[in-house]
Amino acid sequence: MDKNLERLLNANISEMAGMSFYCESCKREHSVDIERIIVEKGAVNKVLDVAAGFRHGKVFLVADNNTYAVCGEKVESLLEEDGYDLKTFVFNTPHQLVPGEQTLGRLLVEIEKGTVLIVAVGSGVINDMCRYLSYKMDIPYIIVGTAPSMDGYASPVTPTIVDGIKATLGGVYPYAIIGDLDVLKEAPMEMIHAGFGDILGKMIALTDWDLSRKLNGEKYCESCVAIMRNALQKCIENVEGIKNRGETAIKHLMGALILAGVTMGMYGGSRPASGAEHHYAHYWDEDAISRGEEHALHGNSVGVGAVIASEVYRLISDRIPVKVNPPSPEEVRVLLGRLGACDNPGDLGISRELFRRSVIHSKDNRPKFTIMHLAGQLGLLENIAEVLTEKFYA
Ligand SMILES: [Zn+2]
Ligand SMILES: [Zn+2]
Repeated sequence: MDKNLERLLNANISEMAGMSFYCESCKREHSVDIERIIVEKGAVNKVLDVAAGFRHGKVFLVADNNTYAVCGEKVESLLEEDGYDLKTFVFNTPHQLVPGEQTLGRLLVEIEKGTVLIVAVGSGVINDMCRYLSYKMDIPYIIVGTAPSMDGYASPVTPTIVDGIKATLGGVYPYAIIGDLDVLKEAPMEMIHAGFGDILGKMIALTDWDLSRKLNGEKYCESCVAIMRNALQKCIENVEGIKNRGETAIKHLMGALILAGVTMGMYGGSRPASGAEHHYAHYWDEDAISRGEEHALHGNSVGVGAVIASEVYRLISDRIPVKVNPPSPEEVRVLLGRLGACDNPGDLGISRELFRRSVIHSKDNRPKFTIMHLAGQLGLLENIAEVLTEKFYA
């Protein structure tokens, strides 16, 4: 194996920060422009150390009422007591915070001129919206993660709802990622399930990528694939530990979630982390948002999307003209089951009609080629939708 790659696969997650190496597969340099990654017990106390270079202006701390209580208040008092010029804004909403124009606009209203650092305390939406704010305003941000629930911590792009449609807007790597294991392991179990689902989704994402490379000659990076497979494997091996909120296992899960973003940045696109399973999740989310309703956590939808995509791989296996190695539906379902996570669309609250429609249309207007695009080219979508709807909604 490539020496550089071997070193990376054995690295601790914190060693990935600032890392740079020559990739034999892509024949180019990959680098991770994140200053610090700290995933350990008591990590939140290192926020002062991480923020040390930003005393020359204002610091803008963003949280919601949950994340403020969980650790935002602690971060706030650490920074305040150390003399930082701090402005805190806490989203006070009983409902899901929507990653869209209104949330972004609110941050723009609250951020003060002269801000030199954004400190986001939270996970999904808080992280995404602060990343975009950071990107647009050229102000670095630190994310203090509160749950191992999604893979956006190191993501270089921002999924946002614009005019009711999921759009992928620009973004930047955070200046630093802080994951305090004392906080992460106490996250609501549903959020831990979601993080695991987002990681299991890589089984499909990587298969879709391999499929497209073989069918369409799409650009491929062996290093990104090896890093992601390695991280996925560690999570699978530690599934019992994750279920029991064990520190080592939660560290592996958080590490894998961070690495998903890191590999996206290395590759220059979301290929290493997302495929057909994410298209299902996005489709269901958009549907719920268009009706003004709440939807399941992203990663829980992704986990179910992975079950469905693996069913599709099986259903059309003799029509796939190249050799790929998708997981079996049983394998995905058993892993979700061991954690107690949701493994079928009905339990996510997806109606029979929406499910049928999503099998046919979740790939529409999404250029990233997946097994669903192949099924469409083969004229099999209606038939697959029929079979799977009967299977899941018998
Ligand atoms: Zn590469
Ligand atoms: Zn995801």
